[in-house]
Amino acid sequence: MENKKIWLSSPHMGGNEMKYVQEAYDTNWVAPLGPNVNGFEQDLKNYTGAGCVSALSAGTAAIHLALILLDVRAGDEVLASSFTFSATVNPITYQCATPILIDSERDTWNMSPEMLEKAIKDRINKGKKPKAIIPVHLYGMPAKIEEIVAIANRYDIPVVEDAAESLGAKVKGKHTGTFGTMGVFSFNGNKIITTSGGGALVSNEAEYCQKATFLATQARDDAPHYQHSHIGYNYRMSNIVAGIGRGQMEVLDKRIAARRTNFDFYTQELANLPVSFVKEPEGFFANRWLTTILTDSYEQREKIRLALASENIESRPLWKPMHLQPVFKDVPAYTNGVSEDLFNRGLCLPSGSNLTDADKERIVEVIKGCF
Ligand SMILES: *Cc1c(COP(=O)(O)O)cnc(C)c1O
Repeated sequence: MENKKIWLSSPHMGGNEMKYVQEAYDTNWVAPLGPNVNGFEQDLKNYTGAGCVSALSAGTAAIHLALILLDVRAGDEVLASSFTFSATVNPITYQCATPILIDSERDTWNMSPEMLEKAIKDRINKGKKPKAIIPVHLYGMPAKIEEIVAIANRYDIPVVEDAAESLGAKVKGKHTGTFGTMGVFSFNGNKIITTSGGGALVSNEAEYCQKATFLATQARDDAPHYQHSHIGYNYRMSNIVAGIGRGQMEVLDKRIAARRTNFDFYTQELANLPVSFVKEPEGFFANRWLTTILTDSYEQREKIRLALASENIESRPLWKPMHLQPVFKDVPAYTNGVSEDLFNRGLCLPSGSNLTDADKERIVEVIKGCF
């Protein structure tokens, strides 16, 4: 028991998931449509205040569809946060478009509005206006989204918010994912709530969700036979998976509260050590999906990570920026050294909403032992 594995972020069921799944089974709605899909979409709409929701098979699929709806095609350029998980950027390449990577600012670790504007001007000068901007709300900390949207509006470029990690995070009471033209959520296994795998596209314009759902269900025209005027995708969420989502939505606020409690615990316990935490700017509300620390050096970060691993505790370096990834080495990037520095010195601590007090005690004891 002493050495029980502690995961970075594991699924945490609320209890009612099986009720919805059972209902789907009993009524034979075992398909990528049905009452749970509609119910989950409604739950997400009510919760986030988004104008419309399309439930999909993955967050990655949602980003892909958002880019298709913005008519991103071969040769186009799309600006995206460099400090992120690869799934933010990959869909740009699915469209044979070119990602243009933008570095972070220090306050939230997310897309630097300053670097963004610099990049937009430079790309326009080079002869191509970017087709879209994808800022990310990493680790559940909102990006400076009002500034980003203001810049985007000035140049008339649509924003697709990657809110895969930030469901429930807000700026001045408004949910991340609802600031841009479209927003994207993920319900993968380690996210703040999970459907095992799944995603959603949200927008304030109903037409985008309708079109996303249409494309996600093979783009079938209105005809008795199968007729197609568009290329379609098989990206719709299943009614079984959506049942898990409905159960998870019932406990989302509790999950956020527990993650924020984890963060408070770590900040208090590690207050006297040379590690720092990313703070919420005025008016920002983070869901604290993962608690992250910044150490003094790469060596100190590795010392902590390895000490935790030897005690069967999972931790993880911060995301390796996309401009440092072998697969994106030839992609244009506007960098300032911030995300590379965060990657070198930062660590994600176990942050599950199902961590026990004893788990957390064990974790901080190991960390304190590294100093
Ligand atoms: C998880 C994640 C995604 C992808 O979502 P999936 O549902 O796993 O496809 C995209 N962007 C970020 C930042 C993520 O963390």
